[in-house]
Amino acid sequence: MEEMNNLVDTTTDSQYADAPEYILEVENLKKYFPIETTLFGTPTRYLKAVDDVSFRVKAGTTIGVVGESGCGKTTLGRTILKLYESNGGKIIFNGEDITNASKKQMLKHRTDMQLIFQDPYSSLPPRMTIGNIIAEAVKVHKIVPKDKVSEHVHDIMRKCGLQDHYYDRYPHEFSGGQRQRICIARALAVNPKLVICDEPVSALDVSIQAQIINLLKELQQNMGLTYVFISHDLSVVKYITDNILVMYLGNSMELGDTADIFARPLHPYTQALFSAVPIPDPDAKMNRIILGGDIPSPANPPKGCKFHTRCSKCMKVCSYVEPKYVEAEPNHFVACHLYNQEVMDNLEKYDAEYDAIKEEEERLAALKAENDKAKK
Ligand code: SF4
Repeated sequence: MEEMNNLVDTTTDSQYADAPEYILEVENLKKYFPIETTLFGTPTRYLKAVDDVSFRVKAGTTIGVVGESGCGKTTLGRTILKLYESNGGKIIFNGEDITNASKKQMLKHRTDMQLIFQDPYSSLPPRMTIGNIIAEAVKVHKIVPKDKVSEHVHDIMRKCGLQDHYYDRYPHEFSGGQRQRICIARALAVNPKLVICDEPVSALDVSIQAQIINLLKELQQNMGLTYVFISHDLSVVKYITDNILVMYLGNSMELGDTADIFARPLHPYTQALFSAVPIPDPDAKMNRIILGGDIPSPANPPKGCKFHTRCSKCMKVCSYVEPKYVEAEPNHFVACHLYNQEVMDNLEKYDAEYDAIKEEEERLAALKAENDKAKK
């Protein structure tokens, strides 16, 4: 098994032959939020919301980012869009390194990268008509000549399944599904290349979810869009994505082709997560793996493998050595010692090291207890 140097290869399509091979490349991306500072404001402790995450996406494909709440999915999306400044790593968009791009330099990319929010209720300004909401960015970024704006907006509304007479109506007149269609139309009106969809259907009824997912798929095919699809709903992710990145406490745990990961999840966390996906067969038996304990605080994550406090396959080495990201199968990457041959061949050595560390910790604890007693 090789250490990860080539990130997952996504599906190809000749329709996207003119675009750079990878529209988005994320390399060792980090986003830390300071949670403790000195009197002078120098950070002394950080919450590592995104820690060393790498993946890349081919034009016209969809990568799903999955994981429990608080695993860093949304922060990852916002850091890619540069709504948050990163603390390390690289973001390459359409062949250009935008990691340190200024606000002014980012202006030319703003229309190419769009975000669809989770909540279609609060993300639309209540006092603007639908036509004006969709037209706003079209006018600001001069996407079409002034006299063509209305035609352009009507066109994108039709593509998103919105009737022409909705143009002069207000957001409160619409249902959740229709509002999400409006949000999609607003994002697509500026002809983006990449759309970050942050839980776009989780606030909607199940029947409406299917309509919106089908709409996103149809628009992708017709407009050559690339999606980063953030979701905790694995059934939806299975349907819409080409590749999946599994995150836990800010780290990527597994990355690979959607069909491969669903057929054979490798990481114990992915196995537990995916065992909860319902099987549409009343006779099929679900072998659900229940994860013990709560997700640890990202402000104080466990040492070694961040998942070791909940992992049923935890070994001594897991509690003090961070697993390397390895290519366990072609284009299938995983951060787990079980797939690292070097670790598995030297388990006895690692066990002995762990025992020595524990012994030393116990000796120091006893010494401290003795000192405390003496002071009293
Ligand atoms: Fe479990 Fe160890 Fe693998 Fe982490 S490295 S997932 S604790 S087996």
